[in-house]
Amino acid sequence: MVPVNCKKRHQTLTLNTETKEMFKQTTFDFESLLEESAKIHGHLCPGQVLGVRMSMFGLSKIGIAEPKGKDRKNIIVFVEMDRCATDAVQSVTGCSLGHRTMKFMDYGKMAATFLNLKMGKAVRVIAREDSREKAKE
Ligand SMILES: [Zn+2]
Repeated sequence: MVPVNCKKRHQTLTLNTETKEMFKQTTFDFESLLEESAKIHGHLCPGQVLGVRMSMFGLSKIGIAEPKGKDRKNIIVFVEMDRCATDAVQSVTGCSLGHRTMKFMDYGKMAATFLNLKMGKAVRVIAREDSREKAKE
């Protein structure tokens, strides 16, 4: 268990072992990505936890290891939410509306689609209803 201190809400976010297992295969470091996204977003909140997890999962599924490095020209992200988690997705993927690499689809879902342009591979990641509660844990 790795506790992450949340300064704003005075709560401790803990990674469960299931998620840690899942991310062991990826090259991403959850904690440093979360720290970075909380800094960009302005605070650490469940949306950051969700957005970082969704992005890590999505990117690894489409074979992107260095979203801000050699892979940065190969990704497009379609986000279906315009809330906290979107900032986390932007932070992890490096995609943004301004760079035209992030597209906002107003479907009102906590979901994002990650597209690898080079490989023609895409995956849509949806946050389960209970994941927001889990992210607060
Ligand atoms: Zn937030």
